[in-house]
Amino acid sequence: MDFWFKSAAYTEDPYDFSKEFNIGNLYRDRIELKNHIRAYAVVNKFNLKHVLSNEYKIVVCCKGHKCSWQIYATWLLGSTLFRVSTYCSVHTCIRVETEGGNTYKAASSRWVTSIIKQKLRKDPNYKPSRIIDDMQIYHNIDVTYNLAWRAKEKAHA
Ligand SMILES: [Zn+2]
Repeated sequence: MDFWFKSAAYTEDPYDFSKEFNIGNLYRDRIELKNHIRAYAVVNKFNLKHVLSNEYKIVVCCKGHKCSWQIYATWLLGSTLFRVSTYCSVHTCIRVETEGGNTYKAASSRWVTSIIKQKLRKDPNYKPSRIIDDMQIYHNIDVTYNLAWRAKEKAHA
């Protein structure tokens, strides 16, 4: 198996979050793949539905009604690598369009901070889990717990 892994092409830039997925793409581990999927969803403004996630397999769909967007990755035996085995890039759901191409603002905690600042003033117990829900409901973006927590800290300061 070794010779194969040496010649395998890793994703060139795992931090280019807007990059499309391709069948056959390899990720160093599950975390790297999940980070890319999450960031991709934020940049492209849609919500994720985690269908399955274990040591062997990751299946993630778009939460949109009957949407066809989905990614399916499997663990490569004897490694930590994950390989994209099925990918459908087409959304059949209605998505919130990106305003003025300012896509990255959605992913930044500063942007989230500015949104939640007013709410925090009224409700100091505004919890990260509720921030995550509200961001999803009102802004159609997924934020991580970490980001919500950091944004809350910043809004307090
Ligand atoms: Zn969709």
